[in-house]
Amino acid sequence: MRQTWIGTSWKMTKTLAESSSFARGLAARAHQDGWAGVQPFVIPPSTSLRLVADVLDGSGVLVGAQNAHWEDEGAWTGEVSVPLVVDAGARLVEIGHSERRTHFGETDETVRLKVSAALRHGCIPLLCVGEPEEVFARGGSTAFVLAQVEAAMRGLGPDEQRRVIVAYEPVWAIGEHGRAARPEDVSGVFEQLAAEFGSRVRALLYGGSVDAGNAARTLEVPHVHGLFVGRAAWTLPGFLKILDIAVSHGATCGST
Ligand code: PEP
Repeated sequence: MRQTWIGTSWKMTKTLAESSSFARGLAARAHQDGWAGVQPFVIPPSTSLRLVADVLDGSGVLVGAQNAHWEDEGAWTGEVSVPLVVDAGARLVEIGHSERRTHFGETDETVRLKVSAALRHGCIPLLCVGEPEEVFARGGSTAFVLAQVEAAMRGLGPDEQRRVIVAYEPVWAIGEHGRAARPEDVSGVFEQLAAEFGSRVRALLYGGSVDAGNAARTLEVPHVHGLFVGRAAWTLPGFLKILDIAVSHGATCGST
């Protein structure tokens, strides 16, 4: 049975004090009883990456970066590289989130370069893909998403592909203006993702307006191996609740 991945990106939130308090609470729960069958991960802003990684060291919770450049170093003012985030404690790098594609000019090509850079330095690439509303409305979600994954993994060998985690996050479902997807909205995409990539990548996650109310039914969608959560997991109780739901889900049914 695969483990269930449950993670959160804090996006552009949380001071050092807030990051510390969340991470300490999470570490305490991890040391107390852990989460059987579940792999938690937390992606703080780069300012608190080192702090969070130190607090969660040895807890079993993976820590990641929200972005990293494809070059290892150089004159790229304002950017951080994979070696720099690894040095700060990241074991995973989020790549291609729709907000970066929309607001920061991320393209399929830069996403591909960043996936390669993450793998080159031993990080897990968390590859985010998802279709905009108009593509969903005309029934083009599956082709759009498969093309994004294909483009991001072009040129990778089988061993490299097996380290990639794909997070399917429909753009229309993400953030405060998003609407939660119904299982039937996304099951076709997961069916095809699993058929094309299921045995090639490490896991297929779902993200977009996941909360404690819909987490269990989302985990029941065939081929969903975990959840990538934003707002609902920005408080420690919110994240713990979803972790507990994933533990219960794993105890009753294995993911496919
Ligand atoms: C996201 O932005 O990746 C995300 C999943 O956000 P939210 O859960 O807040 O929709």
